[in-house]
Amino acid sequence: MKCFAKLAAAVWMLLCLCACKAPEEPVHDRQVFAMDTVMVFKAYGGEYETALEEAEQEMQRLDDLLSRTKEDSEVGRLNSAAGEHVQVGDEIQELLRSAAIYTESTNGAFDITIAPVVAAWGFTTDSYQVPEPAELESLLQTVGMEHVHLDADSTWLDVGTQIDLGGIAKGYASDRVAEIYHENGVVQGTAALGGNVMALGTKRDGTPWRVGVRDPRNSGDANAYAAILNLTDSFAVTSGGYERYFEENGKTYHHILNPATGYPADSGLLSVTVVADCSERSHGNGALCDALSTALFVMGEEQAVEFWRSNGYPFELLLVTEDGRVVVTKGLSEQVEQMEGSGYIYETVS
Ligand code: ADP
Ligand code: MG
Repeated sequence: MKCFAKLAAAVWMLLCLCACKAPEEPVHDRQVFAMDTVMVFKAYGGEYETALEEAEQEMQRLDDLLSRTKEDSEVGRLNSAAGEHVQVGDEIQELLRSAAIYTESTNGAFDITIAPVVAAWGFTTDSYQVPEPAELESLLQTVGMEHVHLDADSTWLDVGTQIDLGGIAKGYASDRVAEIYHENGVVQGTAALGGNVMALGTKRDGTPWRVGVRDPRNSGDANAYAAILNLTDSFAVTSGGYERYFEENGKTYHHILNPATGYPADSGLLSVTVVADCSERSHGNGALCDALSTALFVMGEEQAVEFWRSNGYPFELLLVTEDGRVVVTKGLSEQVEQMEGSGYIYETVS
């Protein structure tokens, strides 16, 4: 009898537990660490769970393919080949071809062969130093896309030339996330790969996603913004000197280098945000935004705005200048929320 009472009590407790347990909440978010970056994905609609799983695996695959510090990545193998021909996949060839197009269209401001110079400043290994002018001058001889050769069967770099896809890899990765979301019928979602953001569709309530543009003058405060962008179906990619830098003898040196001089770009800009369509009909706009955010940061305000006016690429811009202005191109101005009290002056250019 005692035994029966115990059993009954146990069954009762089990029933209670089952009744109290909330139904499994669907998980729409995922956090991934790849490409030296904490990435956060959100997906709604369609096969969102599959999409999140595939996105995570894809980020690890791209890390293995594109990392400069992994010796057996395709980039690592190209860099260590010292002039020898290397067998690489179509994907990397395609990426190198598009990098070459961005170098040409930005008149050399974007250049993946800046790699040895990036290393000389210690940005590859986090052992920062200011290189000697003579060293920079000699390294600059190896910089230029004419040192990268692609043919049907192989790819090779001239002796001394190295490549660094840091200025375009996360943008390319965000293109792949967009494709994975589209293939799986995801209609709303975001992907934040550091300064590379994709905002697909709208928020759940039908309003635009709100994407903050960090305030470079307050870079220590992750909640300080120079502006908020209200975005639908857009990539928004920001490059800024505040993201990675070191100080020596009271001077600050950051990680975006001017390929013409070998020194950190000093063009009067604190950050550049490039915005372009990420809907299903767009293709490659994540990489475009990434390459251009780096290049236009090197160019400076005047040339960047002129580039926006005169080239055929479909993008809009938000520039934060050293003299305290937020400059926005016409097509984006209605999506920009100004930050009261930030001290910035907001301007629209057409
Ligand atoms: P982040 O990688 O911090 O998002 P960017 O997209 O602007 O920032 O890329 C900067 C990285 O690209 C640097 O860390 C370096 O690896 C590489 N790089 C630096 N200067 C250039 C340049 N002028 N063109 C192409 N890549 C660059
Ligand atoms: Mg970039």
